[in-house]
Amino acid sequence: MTQTLVRGRLLSFLRRPQAIDDTESYRYEEDGGLLVENGTIVAAGPYGAVRAEAAADADEIDHRPHLILPGLIDTHLHFPQMQVIGSYAANLLEWLNTYTFPEECRFVESEHAARIARHFYDEMIRHGTTTAVAYCSVHKASADAYFAEALKRGMRMVGGKVMMDRNAPQGLLDTPQMGYDETRAVIAEWHGKGRNHVAITPRFAITSTPAQMEMTAALAREFPDLHIQTHLSENHEEIRFTGELYPDAIDYTDIYAKYGLLGPKSLFGHCIHLSEREADAMSEAGAVAVHCPTSNLFLGSGLFPLKALSRREKPVRIGVATDIGGGTSYSMLKTMDEAYKIQQLLGERLNPFESFYHMTLGNAEALSLSDHIGTLEAGTDADFVVLDAAATPAMALKMEVTRSLTDELFLLQTMGDDRAVRETYVAGKAMKAVL
Ligand SMILES: [Zn+2]
Repeated sequence: MTQTLVRGRLLSFLRRPQAIDDTESYRYEEDGGLLVENGTIVAAGPYGAVRAEAAADADEIDHRPHLILPGLIDTHLHFPQMQVIGSYAANLLEWLNTYTFPEECRFVESEHAARIARHFYDEMIRHGTTTAVAYCSVHKASADAYFAEALKRGMRMVGGKVMMDRNAPQGLLDTPQMGYDETRAVIAEWHGKGRNHVAITPRFAITSTPAQMEMTAALAREFPDLHIQTHLSENHEEIRFTGELYPDAIDYTDIYAKYGLLGPKSLFGHCIHLSEREADAMSEAGAVAVHCPTSNLFLGSGLFPLKALSRREKPVRIGVATDIGGGTSYSMLKTMDEAYKIQQLLGERLNPFESFYHMTLGNAEALSLSDHIGTLEAGTDADFVVLDAAATPAMALKMEVTRSLTDELFLLQTMGDDRAVRETYVAGKAMKAVL
């Protein structure tokens, strides 16, 4: 088997940085080498040492002076909303009803779903995102298109057919039985095929009847290892309406808990307005709050207390995500730029090491997939990204006076986007070059 030796400045995280000077939390190799074989990293470290380990005929690719990081991970977005992005709406519920639901209706057509899937994966690769967790539409055809394209590109992707049986147009509704049956069919056809992971995906409590929630509970019991994804506590009007629909629950989080959906593989989009009780319940269950900063600002939903939730006595696990099409950028760099600004407004600091931790290892940990992705450790998937902090004239000018790795990362996060992504490797293959 041919080996590939990739040379560049390697940066990867070992754990969450405690402070800006927590140099023990990451590994940085000024002249580093990554040895890849059969889609897997077989060695990582100083270039000289890795070169000595490599076969004499290994292909060599030199990415100096650029940074090489684990592939970026996006833990919440909507694959059928690529043509919803940038829609002018007052708030979440108006945005859903006016733009999002009508667009998602089109995914009943396999051809449309397949075409958008190709664009979707092109954007992931263009932005350095090697793993994402997506909602498909209610139609099984959308999940088929999503997973078929992931398989073709060899990417590790998580996704699910949305279950929703009320409060949406007829063309977007399943039934409790249909949602259950089709989710089972998607699991049977796609889970574990290539690098695909199927997630149980009730859209949110507003669009599922209690009968459908019973069916999601059954799926969660039958398939305890699968991810579960849904939305929680995004907007005050949504929270109020949800409370009316489930009058017996003590709060929004309690609805999901009652149906057995609150666990360590559960990803809850938004979680902006959680009460202390809800945050405790999330923490005790090991559930993940997924922060979607560009979406929260775009829809005016609120300021997610990322720092406050992570330093609680009972800390809440946190993921970060674009939430396309409520979100406004496919870039995880842009996403963390906005996350930084939200913390500023809350009087908190989010340092650049924390931001890059969140985009890589942090999100891998949020998905319980850090044995495979989010690191450059030997034995993990060879998914990595090459970043150039001087990618545009304005960035290059600023780089002239940038002296430290801290400043370089902060510049990448503040001014970077897809132009800063020089290459995206999936299972050891350079994907951007062939787009
Ligand atoms: Zn969402």
